[in-house]
Amino acid sequence: MQAARHRLPAAKWDLEIVQMLKHGQVLVISGMTGCGKTTQVPQFILDASLKSKTGQVANILCTQPRRISAMSVAERVADERAEKLGGIVGYQIRLESVMSTRTRLLFCTTGILLRRLESDPTLQGVTHILIDEVHERSEDSDFLMMVVRNLLPQRYDLKVILMSATLDAGLFSAYFNDCPRLEIPGRTFPVEQYFLEDVIEMTGYHLDERSPFARPLKRMNAAPKAGVSTRLPTDDIIDEIEQATNAVAPRHSLQDQNLTPKQLVARYPGIYNKLTLKTLAMIDFDKINNELIELLLEWIVDGPHQYPREGAVLVFLPGLAEIKQVYELLLTNPVFGGRNKSRFWILPLHSTLSSEDQHRVFSTPPKGTTKIVLTTNIAETSITIDDVVYVIDSGRMKEKRYDASKSMESLDLVWESKANAQQRKGRAGRVASGVAFHLFTSHRHDYHMKPQPIPEIQRVPLEQLILRIKILDLFDNMQDVLSQLIEPPADIGIETAKSRLQDLGALDLDKNLTPLGYHLASLPVDVRIGKLMLFGAIFRCLDSALTIAATLSYRSPFVSPFDKRNEADKCKLDFAIGNSDHLTMLNAYKSWIKAQKDGSQAAFRFCQENFLSIKTMQMLATMKHQFTELLSDIGFIREGILCRDLERKFRGSDGVLAVTGQEANVHNDNMKLLSAILVAALFPNVVQIKTPEAKYSKTGEGAVARLPKPEELRFSTKSDGYVSIHPSSVNFQVRYYDSPYLVYHEKIKTTKVYIRDCSMVSVYPLLLFGGCIIAIDLDRNDFIMSVDEGWIRFKAANQEVAELVRELRLELNQ
Ligand code: ADP
Ligand code: MG
Repeated sequence: MQAARHRLPAAKWDLEIVQMLKHGQVLVISGMTGCGKTTQVPQFILDASLKSKTGQVANILCTQPRRISAMSVAERVADERAEKLGGIVGYQIRLESVMSTRTRLLFCTTGILLRRLESDPTLQGVTHILIDEVHERSEDSDFLMMVVRNLLPQRYDLKVILMSATLDAGLFSAYFNDCPRLEIPGRTFPVEQYFLEDVIEMTGYHLDERSPFARPLKRMNAAPKAGVSTRLPTDDIIDEIEQATNAVAPRHSLQDQNLTPKQLVARYPGIYNKLTLKTLAMIDFDKINNELIELLLEWIVDGPHQYPREGAVLVFLPGLAEIKQVYELLLTNPVFGGRNKSRFWILPLHSTLSSEDQHRVFSTPPKGTTKIVLTTNIAETSITIDDVVYVIDSGRMKEKRYDASKSMESLDLVWESKANAQQRKGRAGRVASGVAFHLFTSHRHDYHMKPQPIPEIQRVPLEQLILRIKILDLFDNMQDVLSQLIEPPADIGIETAKSRLQDLGALDLDKNLTPLGYHLASLPVDVRIGKLMLFGAIFRCLDSALTIAATLSYRSPFVSPFDKRNEADKCKLDFAIGNSDHLTMLNAYKSWIKAQKDGSQAAFRFCQENFLSIKTMQMLATMKHQFTELLSDIGFIREGILCRDLERKFRGSDGVLAVTGQEANVHNDNMKLLSAILVAALFPNVVQIKTPEAKYSKTGEGAVARLPKPEELRFSTKSDGYVSIHPSSVNFQVRYYDSPYLVYHEKIKTTKVYIRDCSMVSVYPLLLFGGCIIAIDLDRNDFIMSVDEGWIRFKAANQEVAELVRELRLELNQ
């Protein structure tokens, strides 16, 4: 290991780095991934301080963007020093730490350091902060850089090192007053780079029907599914098709027929011969093409071709779902599965992997076995797998996007940037020369891909960030603070976030932090999820509230396999409660916990029979543990027993009930209360049913209306006009509504704007737990409230009720 360390490109720079830090307070280090920044630089500093005569040993914090990298790097560094993890080298991630009073080099997530700053704003005792992977431009890392920049004048003895994989070190150096930069020259092997057009040629994955590879062709040319949009290709591609059409069918140009290029090509197969492969690829590869990935893998491992290499294959896919799909394809493929299974290690790599599972990714397989790692962009910079010689790059990644004007968040599948592509390619040249296959055309790469990814801060809702700034109390004027970020978010985002926080009651009308806001700021979860957790604790229905919070922040446990959708929907309806997706999920979760009493086999069967995902259920249970611990951290649960111990005691069930005790859960089964606190959390996400046919004799509880077919139902909102209930919701099926109001967690935009999971709520919870009542018209016993929909006006039964509501509201506000 020592020998390997000395061979790393970073090894030669240790004196230089230590020297540069003596003279300056901030240093930017950039260098190719795998050159030894993360594992070596902190050790240079540590070792120099151990050797120095002053006797002061450094106390180093090194932040990592992800939990998995903090753990794996700490483990690696401890190994290199022949130390036990938790001694001089340790790590800390949310809800898990291995460290001690001896620890001098702590790897932690960026989030952990930000939390520490809340209680320890000057970071007493810390001598060095290393902010790693700053080029990723995560929200946390941008924020941390801003806070640290502010801290420097107060802590002139503090040293800050920013580490980045790519070469835009200039941006960071400029941000820190033109601080010095050091670039570690890389040492990699050449990587041959191929694009889609090349791949098609090499593998024989031909688009022509006469080709012997018609199998993938058939699947690919199947009619596009309804709702899958076909992006229009670029002008020069259209030109080329236009010309080809004219050659084949002179009177049928693209415009005349009003056909998309794809339809045109399908109609006139002769066009194939007239088009370049590049253009064909451009038309046909709108989606990730799993078959091509499969074929390419077959070709790599089996094909007699000109690029034989000994080593691992790394496949970049956008997310866990895609990893699973390819994984399953490979298992059923005779080349990789069945009798050949032992010839391959097919390993998924993603952020939710446990550290045991992760080990095999780094290990060298026995001779004759090929390692194929299916990964998200986590293997792009933070994790280095040494023996990779082939890279397959799907070209896509998942990116959180947020449309501030519509308050809509979505996880979008997007094309990577050129920088990502470059980085992914580089992963093939670590130990020997390698080959990278990009599954997009060189045309797309050269002319359409953006040079760099968009920084996260410009893509996410800013609520948490605003609360965190408020709580840090380092800054006076909020507007100014956000403009101090390295690349500040748009003003509109800031304004929307502030008004959301006011709607939630986290900021008062003067934009000061309320007590609720204060507690929300210390919960590192989405503000709405946080409010649900807090109200669950306050109103003593904690266990149920946490289950709902977990489903909201992760996902619904219900699965709906494509070919068994009806059956699955029916099963879901069996769990339906109170016209509410949230309570329905709660019901399913509780039934799963019950099923565990008969052993894990029974619980597994229960999930299979009821179209529930066991993995999701387990994840929800884990998240509930984490939430419990978060609440106990901030003193909202008195019985703060560590979840780890609990897991041992209550293996099989989620055990949260036991941690939180009887007292916190007396109202666990009160569905009305639960839907009321849902209002508290989700307000102002309220829509009202608006159909001309619907007749309500009166609003309020007990009013029942016969409604038209679900497809005809419309829900009006201010910003999106009419929205629809997603077909997966229990409210899509249910025909009887006893209140016209629904609260929902998120709107998603696919072909239409949908509200996904929603719960029907009656008027009084809205009045009592919703955001601000704008006006009370006591003469007419009316309440007027602003929600997503615009305004809603409620009529109270009589004056007595109106006054009672008003009094209760006042009391609740206090
Ligand atoms: P950088 O931060 O510059 O990308 P690192 O310091 O993370 O580079 O890694 C340097 C080298 O250390 C890698 O090339 C790899 O060989 C090795 N390495 C890092 N982590 C591990 C690990 N967990 N297991 C095995 N080798 C590792
Ligand atoms: Mg690194």
